[in-house]
Amino acid sequence: MEASRLEHFKQILLSELRRHARHVGDEQANAIDAANDGAKESADLALRDVISELALKLGERESQMIADIDQALLRIKEGSYGMCVRCNEPIEDRRLEALPTARYDSACQTQIENENAAARPTL
Ligand SMILES: [Zn+2]
Repeated sequence: MEASRLEHFKQILLSELRRHARHVGDEQANAIDAANDGAKESADLALRDVISELALKLGERESQMIADIDQALLRIKEGSYGMCVRCNEPIEDRRLEALPTARYDSACQTQIENENAAARPTL
């Protein structure tokens, strides 16, 4: 993925993160900005600290979303962002725009949902 596209998704993810952080308090939201402003290497570490602290303070559902954002930011850093973790095909741009934390392309997502539905006992 092009650097400019990666930066675009990174900004979306960071603003999502800020939105969750505000539920905890302005202090946490500011901490994200501060962490992201710093020098590059330490900024990543600082941001991860803020994220893990945040996850502790949020409820289960929001913590899960924070974890997804955290994982997506890691994939951006590692250069695997935007690739399906199951089949390694690029995830559709439209899908990433709608769901920037997506790990699967839509074909795999559908298959996984079908498998889950099949595994679930019918009532
Ligand atoms: Zn896939």
